[in-house]
Amino acid sequence: MDLIFAEATPPGRSGVSVIRLSGHKARRVAEQLAGPLPIARNGYFRSIRDGEEVLDRALVIWFQEGHSFTGEEVTEFHLHGAPVVVRRVTQTLTRCGARQAEAGEFTRRAFQSGRMDLAEVEGLGDLLEAETETQRQLAIRAANGELGKKAEIWRGLLIRAGALVEASVDFADEEVPEEVPEDVYSILAELRTHLDNEIGGFPAAERLRKGFEIAVIGPPNAGKSSLINRIARRDVALVSNIAGTTRDIIEVRLDLNGLAVTFLDTAGLRSSTDEIEQMGVDRAKRRALAADMRLHLSETNEIDQELWRDGDLSVATKMDLELYKVSGNSVSSVTGEGIDELLSHIHDRLSLRVAGAGIVSHERQLSALVEARKALSDTEQIPPELLAEAIRQTAASLDRLVGRIGAEEYLDVIFTSFCIGK
Ligand code: GDP
Repeated sequence: MDLIFAEATPPGRSGVSVIRLSGHKARRVAEQLAGPLPIARNGYFRSIRDGEEVLDRALVIWFQEGHSFTGEEVTEFHLHGAPVVVRRVTQTLTRCGARQAEAGEFTRRAFQSGRMDLAEVEGLGDLLEAETETQRQLAIRAANGELGKKAEIWRGLLIRAGALVEASVDFADEEVPEEVPEDVYSILAELRTHLDNEIGGFPAAERLRKGFEIAVIGPPNAGKSSLINRIARRDVALVSNIAGTTRDIIEVRLDLNGLAVTFLDTAGLRSSTDEIEQMGVDRAKRRALAADMRLHLSETNEIDQELWRDGDLSVATKMDLELYKVSGNSVSSVTGEGIDELLSHIHDRLSLRVAGAGIVSHERQLSALVEARKALSDTEQIPPELLAEAIRQTAASLDRLVGRIGAEEYLDVIFTSFCIGK
């Protein structure tokens, strides 16, 4: 593998900038800049030179092949965090034969050298993108290889079942065994339960990872925008405020006590005689219905039956005006009354929905699991001679789950979403 480098820390000024160099001769090249580095994983405080010229004084550490993030020989330069220092050092490394890494290339090498499985790579990607506490918690479990460990246990069950089937074939007088030991069926039933549990926990885990969408709907002037603005301003952990996918929808992302939540302001939800506007309204309605929950706002606590779904909340607005006597949730976006209660109500409901979250949170992982589960369906009815094949298919699906096979088509998609230097 050729020698690659990248800034591991964000570009710009900082106390320290770390450049990582990975590949064959990573140590030798580093020694050209920093002098001898005899012991691996040892911090050396050295002058970093381009020929005779001292570029910086920095901490240099090298890692042996097999003991680094990428699995290759790696050197880290902990430079002073000035862009010009980083630039000079990377120019020198380029002259020494190294090249700038592509996005995700370090992680790709870690995967290719077997340091990480595909589910860990996905977990690491999620960790780098995590904005809230629950996203971080899920991602770190995935990045630590929790799914791979489960898959290993499941493979162990398959190997046991497979061995029992093989043995019954070997011992049978004819080629095809009449009877398969009962144990095979109980092992496969156990595995089915594991897979069902994990598949069942997918929707919740995916919600944790991607966050929830809450559509704020109601008639014009119900106070939708005011409520969203109030929530966004009050919430100290506001993440961002980005324009929606359609002209009619504003998205406000925030951290609701650790849960990632996007509030959708569906400003356009009114009937219109204008055909184009009506199309926009229909689109907004579809979006509102696709959301995880809807807040139905009105001054009178009325709801739109067409858009009401189980788990929705009705919210009376403008409680400071006391226009109507209403029961249930009521808020004032002017005084802030009722907002905290509403948010904690929403949080409680969403928390219930993520209670059974598993570790599988990506479609790719789910489809491998579903495939594995399918291969194990009706094993009681499968003739013994086909049982071994079903077991092999299940094992292949589990291999796909961790990227042992069939990873290529996903790699580019996954790694291009990584930043350079990861
Ligand atoms: P939307 O059309 O549903 O987004 O409603 P807006 O948020 O634009 O609010 C419509 C009008 O109601 C505006 O004049 C707001 O200032 C007013 N309004 C919204 N919320 C409150 C509130 O809680 N109290 C009072 N007094 N006025 C409000």
